[in-house]
Amino acid sequence: MSYLNVTQLNKSYGPTSIFENIDFSADEGEFVTLLGPSGCGKSTLLRCIAGLTDVDSGKILLQGQDIVPLPPQKRTIGMVFQSYALFPNMTVEKNVAFGLKMQKLPGGDIQKRVMEALALVELTDFARRYPHQLSGGQCQRVALARSLVTRPRLLLLDEPLSALDARIRRHLREQIRNIQQELKLTTIFVTHDQEEALTLSDRIVLMNRGKIVQNGNAEALYTQP
Ligand code: ADP
Ligand code: ADP
Repeated sequence: MSYLNVTQLNKSYGPTSIFENIDFSADEGEFVTLLGPSGCGKSTLLRCIAGLTDVDSGKILLQGQDIVPLPPQKRTIGMVFQSYALFPNMTVEKNVAFGLKMQKLPGGDIQKRVMEALALVELTDFARRYPHQLSGGQCQRVALARSLVTRPRLLLLDEPLSALDARIRRHLREQIRNIQQELKLTTIFVTHDQEEALTLSDRIVLMNRGKIVQNGNAEALYTQP
């Protein structure tokens, strides 16, 4: 039994099947990249794991517990989107604190954990700024801090680098990998970019038209038929 076990997962939108009987797993502390062309169902799979989209059938076991019946806030999963999805009228600090406020943590603990999360993404000096005062890369680091601050059991990254220019993308890619290793955080990273997949991952899962077509390390991706 792996840390995360997705078994026989089915999802359709109306009559359109997005994926059928998907099996997918991740070990504790593993960085798995889900690679595949745009529209193949990667994002939907992540949203199903996060609980932002309902599944039709199947199981999602996290540390042995089926999380399908749980609402998103009870799953202790962090998610980062391509579009950052920050609250524009809140400071960086307030954006990062949001999830902890929802959990009704004491103010002092919130402050401490927000500052820890901002230090991780090297944004301590930006706590009082608003999203519109930040670059795209900085916004994405705030989104990352916001997802880490709740100390999730699993981190889901949905094309977090795609909206950024090449230089920043490379820098943030390394930063994500370093943080992931430091926290030993089980991470699923979705991308359509092969280079990103090859440089980042412990393992690459190749998806096409709602099916997992290959699963292995970077070498296996090229040597298997
Ligand atoms: P990817 O992340 O690989 O680009 P998605 O999971 O976003 O793929 O989309 C997979 C398919 O599901 C696409 O054909 C997309 O148009 C469709 N889809 C995604 N979200 C919805 C939705 N809310 N309603 C209907 N179809 C959707
Ligand atoms: P959409 O697919 O509707 O364009 P997103 O994928 O950005 O939008 O966000 C989907 C939903 O997830 C929204 O309702 C948003 O409020 C919520 N959301 C945004 N950020 C987070 C987060 N870090 N963790 C969990 N849910 C989030």
